[in-house]
Amino acid sequence: WHGWIGSQIEQLRAQDLLRTLKPLIPGRSAAEVLVAPDVLRAWTEECDPQSCEGLPTEGSLLRLFSSNDYTGLSCHPSVCRAAADAVLRHGMGPRSSAVVGGYTFLHEELERALADLKQTEDCLLFPTGFAANVAVVSALCSSNNVTIFSDELNHASIIDGARLASRQQGKLVVYRHNDMQHLDRLLLACPPSHRKLVITDSLFSMDGDFADLAGLTALRRKHNFLLAVDEAHATFVCGERGGGAAEMFGVSEEVDVHIGTLSKAVGAHGGFVACSAALKSLLLNKGRPYVFSTALTVPVVAAALAAVRVNEQEPERRDHLWRLVHRLGQGLGVRAESPVVPLIVGSEAAALKASAQLLQRGFYVPAIRPPTVAPGTSRLRISLSAAHSEEDVDSLLQALRECGIIPAQVAPAAMPVRA
Ligand code: PMP
Repeated sequence: WHGWIGSQIEQLRAQDLLRTLKPLIPGRSAAEVLVAPDVLRAWTEECDPQSCEGLPTEGSLLRLFSSNDYTGLSCHPSVCRAAADAVLRHGMGPRSSAVVGGYTFLHEELERALADLKQTEDCLLFPTGFAANVAVVSALCSSNNVTIFSDELNHASIIDGARLASRQQGKLVVYRHNDMQHLDRLLLACPPSHRKLVITDSLFSMDGDFADLAGLTALRRKHNFLLAVDEAHATFVCGERGGGAAEMFGVSEEVDVHIGTLSKAVGAHGGFVACSAALKSLLLNKGRPYVFSTALTVPVVAAALAAVRVNEQEPERRDHLWRLVHRLGQGLGVRAESPVVPLIVGSEAAALKASAQLLQRGFYVPAIRPPTVAPGTSRLRISLSAAHSEEDVDSLLQALRECGIIPAQVAPAAMPVRA
């Protein structure tokens, strides 16, 4: 085994795919992180040794443009207090699967609150969003007369759920990204006796674009499939109440299954599925990642509950976030659709170099490379948070210009239609 593991690592190194971990010190806001000098140096060296010249020698504060904490709630005082109070009162909570005692009154209250946010009959919490997707797809699609239609850019957890289901006889069909005509043709070709599940991310995490939810719901009326939407990146971010992209596009009622995570804009941890009471019952009996995994800890549940309340009481956080999206888009001369804004630079080396140059100037904007994205489309993935200020965005733009990553002057882009 030692030899085999070593050879795997060598292969990854040769392909430039070997990942390493960088320990960071969390900051006091979701927009900042501290980094020790030796970590900063090792990190920059890995990206681009030349950029190490002039690197700050002290441990420095980095403006963080890589977090999925889009509303900055992970550091909100109410969220932090709720977690602290809960752990002092209840400890971590019963450490067992929800079906054998890990389910508390707080889990139930959070499920009710999320069902209310998503306007569904019920909701079920999961240990992670990854587990939620795997459970939905594998539990619904394990028989031989089911076909899953999945967008080609869907998240890995949907792909893995679909692979699991197809091993158990469900059939997997992948449609071209957001191509409704392609999906329509594939649906027409599917035997009428098959039950059909169409599943898509709502906000795609590497491109920052939205699923064509209007197109999908029109096809749902035509073909009568079950529509599942993964709102991992859109919950709390989109829609008047923060209900997600389905709310923003006015199609919530036509989405059968709303999957989400508590680990991004909710600022806590865990996943959930908002759906009918019947589907909840099926998932809690047949969703293996639910049944055979320990329920969420009580402080995490309390934090998420507090975040739901803050989401109701402070909609201005979302307004601020969208103002930053527009500001960044204008500065880049692009139509930024969402808080995820990719800057595609092409080669892996170029992306790594750009990321290192920004590190040197105190900004953490990660380079995203294959296999996460297609070869030749390596990019800087900028993610915005309500914890950023307008000055943060302006200084990032300034740094991008100084590094030559964007031109000194950009033509103003058409503004995004949404807010
Ligand atoms: N779906 C999407 C679209 C995601 O981006 C992610 C996380 N990267 C997940 C699901 C998984 O969520 P979690 O991190 O809660 O497991």
